[in-house]
Amino acid sequence: MKVPLLDLPAHHRELRDELVAAVTRVLDSGAYILSDEVKKLEEGVAAYCGARFAIGVSSGTDALLAALMAVDVGPGDEVVTTAFSFFATAGTISRLGARPVFVDIDPATYNIDPKAIERALTPKTKCIVPVHLYGQCADMKPILELAGARGIKIVEDAAQAIGARYPGGRQAGTLGTLGCLSFFPTKNLGAAGDAGMVLTDDPALAAKVRMIRVHGSEPKYYHKLVGGNFRIDSIQAAVLNVKLPRLDGWTGKRRENAARYASLFGEKGLGSKVTLPQPAYANQGLGFDHIYHQYVLRAERRDALREHLTQAGVATEIYYPLPLHLQECFRDLGYRPGSLPESERAARETIALPIYPELTAEQQSAVVDAIAGFYN
Ligand SMILES: *Cc1c(COP(=O)(O)O)cnc(C)c1O
Repeated sequence: MKVPLLDLPAHHRELRDELVAAVTRVLDSGAYILSDEVKKLEEGVAAYCGARFAIGVSSGTDALLAALMAVDVGPGDEVVTTAFSFFATAGTISRLGARPVFVDIDPATYNIDPKAIERALTPKTKCIVPVHLYGQCADMKPILELAGARGIKIVEDAAQAIGARYPGGRQAGTLGTLGCLSFFPTKNLGAAGDAGMVLTDDPALAAKVRMIRVHGSEPKYYHKLVGGNFRIDSIQAAVLNVKLPRLDGWTGKRRENAARYASLFGEKGLGSKVTLPQPAYANQGLGFDHIYHQYVLRAERRDALREHLTQAGVATEIYYPLPLHLQECFRDLGYRPGSLPESERAARETIALPIYPELTAEQQSAVVDAIAGFYN
């Protein structure tokens, strides 16, 4: 049985008529930039996430860039972030001329370790960028305390975590100064192309991000600051407006799939070979669980397992094979292999299994059977 990592055509099949109608409506309207579709999406996502303001932008990467610009990150500043994330988390810091200061992760959740943040703070620390990796919130309480006491800003990279809740009830992207979402097609809420969103409760920062999104102009052709073209397309907003009302249903399916994996792995007695994802806040009650953007195992002999699964027709991925502090482009920062051991170990030991909403019970059994076949 073939099991893909994701099946976007299947994901869109039942929505196809609505999506085509929405895209056609935009095409026929001539309103392609910052139209009512964008306004509707911003209001919808703000309400969904529990943020006062949401500003649609061109990608998750540009959401990070605009948010960092809004808190004036620039040359001479240090920005503390995790070494174990997608490149955009750190690339945006570097592009603004600031120095990314990488810290290690909690090996249980793969999220940034607050104690490591504390050790990395200096008088130059302008901002902290925690990432809510794979779909569950980083441990924000100690991070908020560290930042608050020192006047440090927090830009959350919530690209993988729309709808994930943190104890207390707030959602990913609404805990810090600003939060960033990605609607890259493979994210839990994905556009048919690139798109993203910045969240904030601060009216002044919301206005500033809106300005940064259009070259820093307000009104048009009068530039108060240097921004960029970070606008979200109306066509992408229209696609997302069709999909947003379904997001909770899809998240529910991902959670069901995760529960099914847990019971299948339990039946096979693979506990000594693989470590399943550990939802950190599930004990807080319904809705505090992981949103399972990714279902990531820590696995013995990871590379050989991956090869075995590929042969068996099961697609997998490694998020991420090389931690950020060891990327060639950051060589000048002076990190070495061994600098951040948990990030490096996660890069060697983890593997993501298919978890998408349309995945069937039969496919999941095939995945776990193939893994059992490898170890037994
Ligand atoms: C996807 C992602 C981004 C970037 O989003 P794009 O929309 O692809 O630009 C940033 N950070 C993390 C953790 C991501 O997963």
